[in-house]
Amino acid sequence: MNNKNSAELLFPHITKKISDYDTIYPKRILQEGAKVTRLGPSPTGFIHLGNLYGAFVDERLAAQSDGVFFLRIEDTDDKRQVEGSVEVIINSLNFFGIKFDEGVTIDGSVGDYGPYYQSERGSIYQCFAKELVERGLAYPCFLNEEEISSIREEQEKTKQNPGIYGEWAKNRELTYDEILANIDAGKPYVIRLKSQGNPNAVGDEVKTISVEDGIRGILVMPENVQDIVILKATGIPTYHFAHVVDDHLMRTTHVVRGAEWLSSLPVHVELFNVLDLKMPVFCHTAQLMKLDEEGNKRKLSKRLDPELSLEFYKNQGYHPRSVREYLLTILNSNFEEWRIANPDLPMEDFHFTLEKMSNSGALFDLNKLNDISKDVLAKIPAKELYVWLKDWATEFHPEANILFENNEDYFEKILDLGRSGNNPRKDLIYASQIFEFISYFFDDTFKIEDKNPENISDEDAKLILNAYIASYDHSDDQSAWFNKIRTFGLTLGYAAKPKEYKKNPELYKGHVGDVSTVIRIAVMGRSQSPDVWEIQQILGEEKTKNRILKQL
Ligand code: GLU
Repeated sequence: MNNKNSAELLFPHITKKISDYDTIYPKRILQEGAKVTRLGPSPTGFIHLGNLYGAFVDERLAAQSDGVFFLRIEDTDDKRQVEGSVEVIINSLNFFGIKFDEGVTIDGSVGDYGPYYQSERGSIYQCFAKELVERGLAYPCFLNEEEISSIREEQEKTKQNPGIYGEWAKNRELTYDEILANIDAGKPYVIRLKSQGNPNAVGDEVKTISVEDGIRGILVMPENVQDIVILKATGIPTYHFAHVVDDHLMRTTHVVRGAEWLSSLPVHVELFNVLDLKMPVFCHTAQLMKLDEEGNKRKLSKRLDPELSLEFYKNQGYHPRSVREYLLTILNSNFEEWRIANPDLPMEDFHFTLEKMSNSGALFDLNKLNDISKDVLAKIPAKELYVWLKDWATEFHPEANILFENNEDYFEKILDLGRSGNNPRKDLIYASQIFEFISYFFDDTFKIEDKNPENISDEDAKLILNAYIASYDHSDDQSAWFNKIRTFGLTLGYAAKPKEYKKNPELYKGHVGDVSTVIRIAVMGRSQSPDVWEIQQILGEEKTKNRILKQL
């Protein structure tokens, strides 16, 4: 009776029972095996690769099983909230193809299991807390900061575990009258779980919990003994309590979250147990790591690694499909093998599994992302690349907008350069790199970047270009064009083949490769580029000739 009265005293305004909420949020009607997953970001304004990595797992699990993936905003910590961050979260994830079926959206919430903002769920948490108090499994704790610090000092002095538990939990057994007196005295209080663990157990007596993690397999950990706070003095829940209540009522089947939550798993297990709720499958993902300059693995850091921020990929102009494909590569160890066997299937056809996820630290490598991106872009038709580049430029590179005016055909030819046939060129990686890569096609951005080969003097270069312009016929096919270069090259003293030059260097000024390089630099500004003849065909006769003439 005492507990019931205390619960009433603490939560007079809470009239619903847990069972009422179970009726309001019934079991979801989904097909057998359907997974319900959620992303629970805090709206701090920083959304990073780790969020995307986790969201990707959530999305795949739900999508592959015809389940539900929802967005819940964990906004219980006022201090860390940043205006506009919910939009940033939704838009950033959407950019990478992560879409939610339910929960918070830009235009309000969608779904029957809301509210999806934790800040709007106060009375739900309080209802659960009330019932725990009623059942003697939670209690109000009036210890103030000073008292808690002196407990900590005492524990440090006597080398005991820190925290409020067992004998240190001085308010564990307060009577109704004592609680009433404290409240009347205006003392603030939190609600603590009355842990059922045994804090006095040592050695073999320590009970353990065993949880089968979806990624890590069976985890055995010591049971919780701490009387952790479930409701703060403001009535707002801690992460632990909100997680258990929400994931129960929202009928989450799989909780995918970072490894930083592993250490509090025993707390969550105890909360599920005392509330007599079925636990979801926990899936603790690996930390994202990278190799530093010395070749050591370290965690990706907000301060040191710009690539941790999702904005980085947008700003550079990575294609979302490249990032998705790369993430799958680090998420599932068998993806690369599958990709080799199925080069043309959409990545969504790959069956993602938790079992193939690494649990020891996923290694993130920008070079590998770039390699994957080359393959991904090589398969995207030029028309589609054009639209994507145009959209990206509008937002991130507006100075390039002018290049898109009445230039669609021209642009597509550029993007398609060397991409047909069995062995297509793979030099397009991300939008900003592509603009740089193709800049020579546009007079506004064309510039001579490289120098002629060392063995060619400026005078000799001019002789080459003069001969070239004299013999130039835009309608020559590729072999006729090259034969002309070879022929006038020979007349000017350049071997028709590099081999001949190597054999008798004293007989020549250089070889046909040097001649082509001089032409290449005059036309493209660079010594390395795709096929010159093809480029000239795209540039057109006038532009090509003008560029040569400019160097004379
Ligand atoms: N709000 C938590 C965070 O941002 C979510 C953790 C979870 O997914 O349970 O880390």
